[in-house]
Amino acid sequence: MPNSNTSAVELLEKLVAFDTTSRNSNLELIEFASDYLANHGIEAEVIHDDTRAKANLYATLGPRRDGGIVLSGHTDVVPVDGQDWDTDPFVLHESDGKLFGRGTADMKGFCAAALAMVPEFLSRNLEVPIHLAFSYDEEVGCIGVHGLIPHVAVPGITPKAVIVGEPTSMRVVNAHKGIRAFRTTVTGLEAHSSATHKGVNAVMIAADLIGFLARVAEEEIASAKPDSRFDPPYTSVNVGPITGGTALNIIPKHCSFVWEYRPLPEAEENEIFERFTRYVDDDILPRIMKVSKKAAIESTALSRVPPLVPEDDSSIETLIMALAGTNQSFTVSYGTEAGVFHEAGIPAVVCGPGDIMQAHRPNEFIAVSQIEACTEFLHRVLDHVAEN
Ligand SMILES: [Zn+2]
Repeated sequence: MPNSNTSAVELLEKLVAFDTTSRNSNLELIEFASDYLANHGIEAEVIHDDTRAKANLYATLGPRRDGGIVLSGHTDVVPVDGQDWDTDPFVLHESDGKLFGRGTADMKGFCAAALAMVPEFLSRNLEVPIHLAFSYDEEVGCIGVHGLIPHVAVPGITPKAVIVGEPTSMRVVNAHKGIRAFRTTVTGLEAHSSATHKGVNAVMIAADLIGFLARVAEEEIASAKPDSRFDPPYTSVNVGPITGGTALNIIPKHCSFVWEYRPLPEAEENEIFERFTRYVDDDILPRIMKVSKKAAIESTALSRVPPLVPEDDSSIETLIMALAGTNQSFTVSYGTEAGVFHEAGIPAVVCGPGDIMQAHRPNEFIAVSQIEACTEFLHRVLDHVAEN
């Protein structure tokens, strides 16, 4: 067991050194993982995106048959731009039992621990396979994993469960909210700012729409379920960056803003977008089109992450909780690829090393003890899939 821990830290050092910020290519990391697997006699599938600048990796260890377990992680990390780091974020730095670096917790620590276990996985006779699934562009809306799904849900070799190793401090998470994100663009009509009756003010229309979203957010808060396991216990609504206007004396022609909501698993996930669209079509558009036929409001979807719907007491959850040495499951409010696997019909839970509180922050770290706990967990996964 110490061997796997040592090599997990060594592998983490390698993985952290690849600057796989989502806007960059992740190919060097994928090639590194693929070469590492090849050195152990495993031929991984490298599944490129359309630009061929990014790729997922899928590898199967053991017999090619149904019922295996997928260890799933994303290879991209969030930017370090504007963050105040004490050390180089792309050079692993150990101090006081903590390993610092971008992606250590979210979630190269899990990927490194899984890769470090490969020799041990291969040293046993596996009854069912262990699959490794590494994706790109998770941080920008679980984009890459969709290209993985057709390679995972293959008849005759469909896994029975996916473990998504996002940082949960090795707790088992069986439910999370979904994410729906949009960009709404308002096109108005320019005019001199003194002639408000001749223009359509795109910024003021956008403010009206944002006011609508704020009212929806209040309604969601008011209908929160006190017994909900989620924090916060309601579908949250958030508006992000907004841009519009050119000068105070010109009625703005353009304004756009991005917004999202995070529906509870039991919520009808389209509902808020449909209400928004009805408000636009019934209340706003008729009013502004009286002034200008060219006035318009368009919303485009930026991303969608399906919720992870809890299946309390399902056999898979019971199994993973037993392997994680716990009898309690948790919920989180952030979206993960587990929702995508679940929607594709493969039961998924989230369980991985590191604390989500360290994710996305300057001086991100993972405790060495978390890597060790993950390695122990993966040994129990191995014992479960290996022939006695
Ligand atoms: Zn993550």
